[in-house]
Amino acid sequence: MGTRTCMNASCGATSATEWKRGWELRSGGFANLCDKCGSAYEKLIFCDMFHLNESGWRECNSCGKRLHCGCIASKSSLELLDSGGIECLNCVKNAKPSSGMLRCGLWFICALLGHGLPHQSRARPRLHESGWV
Ligand SMILES: [Zn+2]
Ligand SMILES: [Zn+2]
Ligand SMILES: [Zn+2]
Repeated sequence: MGTRTCMNASCGATSATEWKRGWELRSGGFANLCDKCGSAYEKLIFCDMFHLNESGWRECNSCGKRLHCGCIASKSSLELLDSGGIECLNCVKNAKPSSGMLRCGLWFICALLGHGLPHQSRARPRLHESGWV
């Protein structure tokens, strides 16, 4: 095996007591992180520790937690909202039960599948407005 290097640019350690798996790589596989950076990544504080001075920080729409957008290390810990803005993974999880229909951007597929009622009832008043009189 070749020499391993911690993939955290601001760390770059070549030795570690334990190598950890980080974010998913575009090429497949996972980033290589030393024990220190790896455990920061696991605790979702990687960006708080290493990217504080970088740009791209935004706040979760629901809880105000600061999240590092456009960063591969935070990619899986935030979700882009349909209406703009972002949400942290905790809030996304908490909102799950009621969000199924709200989050459905592919309404026409829902309609095809027969659960498009909310979409239809939203469209109906419009018909009346346009007037049959
Ligand atoms: Zn490291
Ligand atoms: Zn980051
Ligand atoms: Zn949140």
